[in-house]
Amino acid sequence: MPPAESGAPGRGSAFALSVDVEDYYQVQAFASVVARDAWNRFPSRVVANTNRLLDLFDESGAKGTFFTLGWVAREHPDLVRDIARRGHEIASHGMDHRMITELTPQEFRAQAIDSKSLLEDLSGQSVLGYRAPSYTVGRGTLWSLEILRETGYAYDSSIFPIRRRRYGYPEGPIGPARIQAGKTTIAEFPLPTVGWGSARLPVLAGAYLRLWPAWASLAALDHHRRVGRPLVVNIHPWEIDPDQPTVDPRGRRPWTHYARLDRAAGILRRVLERDSFDTVRSRLEHLGVLERAGDDDGRSATA
Ligand SMILES: [Zn+2]
Repeated sequence: MPPAESGAPGRGSAFALSVDVEDYYQVQAFASVVARDAWNRFPSRVVANTNRLLDLFDESGAKGTFFTLGWVAREHPDLVRDIARRGHEIASHGMDHRMITELTPQEFRAQAIDSKSLLEDLSGQSVLGYRAPSYTVGRGTLWSLEILRETGYAYDSSIFPIRRRRYGYPEGPIGPARIQAGKTTIAEFPLPTVGWGSARLPVLAGAYLRLWPAWASLAALDHHRRVGRPLVVNIHPWEIDPDQPTVDPRGRRPWTHYARLDRAAGILRRVLERDSFDTVRSRLEHLGVLERAGDDDGRSATA
């Protein structure tokens, strides 16, 4: 494992922005009550919510990386084209939102290949980045990083260096770094945390952008700037949609999914006004963590 921390002191902030493009009924919290073949029965809200995010980004000129679920890209191809046309990066969130912990290496490889070629066809971009459903790159799934390299990806942004029930890799890097991927290496932009005593607190990503009060998110941003550590903000389109239908047929509304849905857009707006935000790819290139096209070990982006 390379040094756990890499920063860019004196080079200005290196903040990235990202969206995991999926609909409200596709999240892991509902996986036990919503079968994948029933997804089409729910009213889709991902296009309208993503367009709201695109407009919000335009207010401050922020650019971001949209880790798009292959299933969403198939259903809404114009959405992928619009995101790319508006100057953002398209990257992969897999095909069907199964966590890596639920996939065999063969299944993971197929999803990596299929989502990449689908998203490249629609966007006209080389898809270089990947984010795992539910951030499930961890100690037991590090094999996936080698497969990402073999299938033409240049970076991953899935490691959350905390411990949670379904995900987390506390030993992982806390800032952008090149990490081992089988016999080679891959660029990693981990999800953001702040040290608190001996613990690390998740901030500005996952549900935490929405669940922490705005002042805490802004303080975490300022802390990262102060110590010169790059950071990637992450949000989901459904997180700015307080009017989304209840998914669970029993009417259960898990707090972590439904809390403060009316606050997230306002918090995000304040975060984006605080600094400049760019795509994950451009930040990694600027930091020298991502090999530029043509520099890699012969595995081209068009594998
Ligand atoms: Zn997701």
